[in-house]
Amino acid sequence: MDTIYLIVLDGIGDRPIEKFGRKTPLEAAHTPILDKLVQMGINGAMNTIDIGVKPGSDTAHLALFGYDPRVHYSGRGPYEVAGIGMETVPGDICFRVNMGTVDEKMVVVDRRAGRVEDTSEYAKLLDGTEIDGVRFILKPGTAYRLGMIMRGKNLSSEITDVDPKEAGLTIKQAKARDGSKQAEFTAKVLNKFVELSHKKLNKLPSNQERVKKGELSANCLLVRGAGKYPDMEPFEEKYRLRACCIAGAGLYKGIARVLGMDVLEVAGATGKPDTNVRAKIEKAIAVKKDYDFVFVHIKAADSFGEDGDSDGKLKFIEKIDEAMVPLVGLPGAVVAVTADHSTPCELKGHSADDVPIVIVSPRVRDDDVEHFSERECAKGRLGHIKGEHVMPILLDIVGIAEKFGA
Ligand code: ZN
Repeated sequence: MDTIYLIVLDGIGDRPIEKFGRKTPLEAAHTPILDKLVQMGINGAMNTIDIGVKPGSDTAHLALFGYDPRVHYSGRGPYEVAGIGMETVPGDICFRVNMGTVDEKMVVVDRRAGRVEDTSEYAKLLDGTEIDGVRFILKPGTAYRLGMIMRGKNLSSEITDVDPKEAGLTIKQAKARDGSKQAEFTAKVLNKFVELSHKKLNKLPSNQERVKKGELSANCLLVRGAGKYPDMEPFEEKYRLRACCIAGAGLYKGIARVLGMDVLEVAGATGKPDTNVRAKIEKAIAVKKDYDFVFVHIKAADSFGEDGDSDGKLKFIEKIDEAMVPLVGLPGAVVAVTADHSTPCELKGHSADDVPIVIVSPRVRDDDVEHFSERECAKGRLGHIKGEHVMPILLDIVGIAEKFGA
């Protein structure tokens, strides 16, 4: 059987930009390799979740892998904690946390505590704290981030965020979203923990030192994204495909781990603009014999979109393009290249705009599209699809789709 490659270029879609002559960064970029794939393949436009729905990266990926996020998604926390390799047990409530700076009135001064680069010290200080029979487990994530788990009885993920998500606002009290006793208890314990950790962090010598120097103190946990570890059928059982993930950023490794995919490490895969895209593609090709499904995630175009940096986005697209060379004409492979959502530079955030998709295999009915871009791919034979269609289409191309009917 051919190996399926699903290559997700995070946030690659965009909107017309005046200084590019109303082209998108993808249209303005020089992308001969992606264009070659488009000329060999079948092309289309895709909304990962649905038309008019602005996807999160997590929900978009679930949809692409064929898991309805409306059924399976309760919050980002579980994927973040899985992404940094934290072990969970059923009943755990998982969160993502930023180290932040608050003033004496608990108003957020900085949501990243001056971008502290390592949170090990804070995780060590607070890990293992117990309040009302609930244990808090913390582990450092990348830069100013942490993963956090609440472990105990009668906990619920139906609680609101502590993080107000904007500097200048007071940190919030977590509240029950559904009025249940479990959610009220969870919120109460979490609020106690946030208060206690603020006191402990204020006393930390390194923070007192920072204050003396006039620097931002990492004195508050900005907790958000409560989620229960989802109970989903592993990818391998659902599709009978041996699957692996090649990604730099934690969230995508986390999603892959939750679905039971092997997460392969690649030196130089950072999830940032300096990432070694070529090394990821070469790794993906090197493991072709070992896997039926290889998911490759490339993050940074999305980050440039979120920063509103259209020149940076264009340049990074060209870097991706160069790295794709080994995929052109790769024997024994079906190669799909797409995105999880658009991240227009003008919005500095996600949008519901559709994204391009190309699928390359000698077995597809190739079309006349010449360039990999939002508007060009939309003219292709694949038409306008949703994320939930991607896995069925790929399974059919490799010849293992189940027949519906006699
Ligand atoms: Zn994304």
